[in-house]
Amino acid sequence: MNYEIIKKPKCEDFPKRPNLDDYEGMRAGFRWEDIHKELDFLPGGCLNLAYEAIDRHLKTDKKDRVALIWDGRHETKERYTFSDLSRLTNQFANVIGSLGVKKGDRVFTYLDRVPELYISIIGIVKAGAVVGPLFSAFGTEAIKDRLIDSGAKVLITCPELLDNVYAVKKDLPALEHIIVVNKHNVPYTPKEGEIAYERAMAEASSEYQICQTDKEDFCIMHYTSGTTGKPKGAVHVHEAIVGHYATAKYVLDLHPDDIYWCTADPGWVTGTSYGIFGPWSNGVTQLVTEVGFTVHHWYELIARHRVTVWYTAPTAIRMLMKYGEKETKKHDLSSLRHINSVGEPLNPEAVDWSKQVFRTAFHDNWWQTETGCIQIANYPVQDIKPGSMGRPFLGVRPAIMNTDISEELSAGEEGNLCLKYPWPSMFRTYWNKKELYESRFKNGWYITGDRAWRDEEGYFVFVGRADDVINVAGHLVGPFEVESALVEHEAVAEAAVIGVPDPVRMEVVKAFVSLREGYEASQHLKLEIKQFVAKKLDANAAPKEIEILPTLPKTRSGKIMRRLLKARELGLPEGDTSTLEE
Ligand code: AMP
Repeated sequence: MNYEIIKKPKCEDFPKRPNLDDYEGMRAGFRWEDIHKELDFLPGGCLNLAYEAIDRHLKTDKKDRVALIWDGRHETKERYTFSDLSRLTNQFANVIGSLGVKKGDRVFTYLDRVPELYISIIGIVKAGAVVGPLFSAFGTEAIKDRLIDSGAKVLITCPELLDNVYAVKKDLPALEHIIVVNKHNVPYTPKEGEIAYERAMAEASSEYQICQTDKEDFCIMHYTSGTTGKPKGAVHVHEAIVGHYATAKYVLDLHPDDIYWCTADPGWVTGTSYGIFGPWSNGVTQLVTEVGFTVHHWYELIARHRVTVWYTAPTAIRMLMKYGEKETKKHDLSSLRHINSVGEPLNPEAVDWSKQVFRTAFHDNWWQTETGCIQIANYPVQDIKPGSMGRPFLGVRPAIMNTDISEELSAGEEGNLCLKYPWPSMFRTYWNKKELYESRFKNGWYITGDRAWRDEEGYFVFVGRADDVINVAGHLVGPFEVESALVEHEAVAEAAVIGVPDPVRMEVVKAFVSLREGYEASQHLKLEIKQFVAKKLDANAAPKEIEILPTLPKTRSGKIMRRLLKARELGLPEGDTSTLEE
């Protein structure tokens, strides 16, 4: 951390007094139970995430406030108040209720960022079912794995993605219903068994009694990648709202009249914790755009909607930096008050740059799918040390632990980043993988899988992953998942995948493959293999580079040595190669 510290003004000098106005003092006296008092709960002490996000505002003057500003493709623009969302999500809860969805059933979404995605997610949670949002850029294999593992009963999708669904449907015996949202009125003839969203909603009542869920009932699951095996579903409970609400208030510093924009897709945990539940439980208006990233469009959106609080990711920030300050000058970005980043390490240059061009620096923060909400952060009132993810959130106790998680290391020493548990928004299991879940805990600590160190003042610095998981533009890619897709290609005999550093996307996937008899290495074949993986998984997981080797290095027991390939690729020491096959 050799960069100059960004000094923060006193609370009184902020245009709007930060919600967290005394970090040390509030941390000392903080109890999660006190946050409960700011939530409403259902009669009988029940807690429902959807109620806290939407319906509780109907009792206040927030009911007519715009909750969702939607900026769609083809210049479509829509606005929904909290009352509108309450009514529509009631209708949707009735729609799935009429299909026989019961408490605990899994109901998945596979949709672009249209208002109906948000309505479905909230409606599913109201019904007491477990929602699984799938990233709409996922290919056939990626959706198949997740739908099989979760045993999803209903899928909400759109005509544009139906081909992918039908390509794997025969492998999904648990899938009983497909609801189709035709937002863009594309010509399409519904197949037997499909339910048209628009029609079902028109027939559904807007009266609904929200399911009396307990705070420990499952409500949302997000799949995340590990080193081995297929992606695993991290399951969260209704109590997670306590963490969403508190961190949105104190880290994102949301105030009632903010216009907030989270650029993450609900297919990833940031897109639900902070693209749905955090802001809406705070009664704040949020912007959603259906359109992907372009520099002009992003700045234009901020300017047009007068966005005040922005939550994005380092890859996007680095892309904005590439276009430089000149591009920022073309737009009025003066509305931005507080800007935040997550998902990958935020390089100090990006912090410095943002301070110059937006007059406020990006505040990096750290968390994971498993943690459910932000754990370590930079705050409006705390000095920023560029290159650091910041200090622990109120009520969060991280530590740097030694190899066997028995001893806490001192300041300056690198080790395993662990968190003292429990906390309200932590995952409660990996779906169908209890043992794997349990393996993440030891001696009272949750093991995050990241390596880090902290300084004397308690600022944490990310070092890297402790495992082979690859972070491509903030999206974790499991090497095993990519290797499985690669070997399904007819030309590929064996495959190993590593992450290699990339100046914009943090890492990209590099694959080493050996070919089956009868196949010749060629540029054309490499391109074909890349496209094959992109179609099965998604563009992030597709190898940027493929190297064809006669054979891959293996241990004597036949395990491909990814680490050796990585060391060779990056020119690092090869380490112990005594187990290498002759
Ligand atoms: P995910 O579960 O997909 O949200 O990914 C979580 C992982 O992303 C963490 O375990 C880190 O490896 C990485 N990550 C998230 N935020 C940061 C950050 N601010 N700095 C460095 N790495 C991060």
